[in-house]
Amino acid sequence: MKLATIEDLFHHEITDLYSAEKQLIKALPKMAKAATNADLKAGFEQHLEETKVHAERLEQVAEEFGKALGRHKCKAMEGLVEEGAELISEDAQDNVRDAGLIGAAQRVEHYEIAGYGTARALASQLGLKKAVKLLEQTLAEEKATDEKLTALAESAVNAEAGQAGKEQE
Ligand code: FE
Ligand code: FE
Repeated sequence: MKLATIEDLFHHEITDLYSAEKQLIKALPKMAKAATNADLKAGFEQHLEETKVHAERLEQVAEEFGKALGRHKCKAMEGLVEEGAELISEDAQDNVRDAGLIGAAQRVEHYEIAGYGTARALASQLGLKKAVKLLEQTLAEEKATDEKLTALAESAVNAEAGQAGKEQE
């Protein structure tokens, strides 16, 4: 049995998150490059730096847990990144593409929020005090990123996208 214990499940969860973060480190520069709005572009660049730290924190979590991170590809993140790439390759109005990029990025953040919430709960159950703190820090940054994206969507980006639509009419 591969998942016999909570320890096994925790190992699986942090391995999955590590793969997700690693894939995101490759995808975020492409999203930053595709974004037109300066704040959105800067937001992606900032979250890239945070994401590198998220991957490092998972390495620290694995260290406390006493088990190396496994080799597993997070298929959910693979799909989310693929959809983002499809969007980038579409022939689109700049502002409309930006609005789409925000939606793609928020899907990623929500996935991570769910994953880190689960991992934190398992770490707490296993009494891994340092891991709980590390996972909590990352979870807070994912939530903050999601909120920043919402604020961007509600302010400049979607208003500009709406304007672009009107100009086309
Ligand atoms: Fe992350
Ligand atoms: Fe994130």
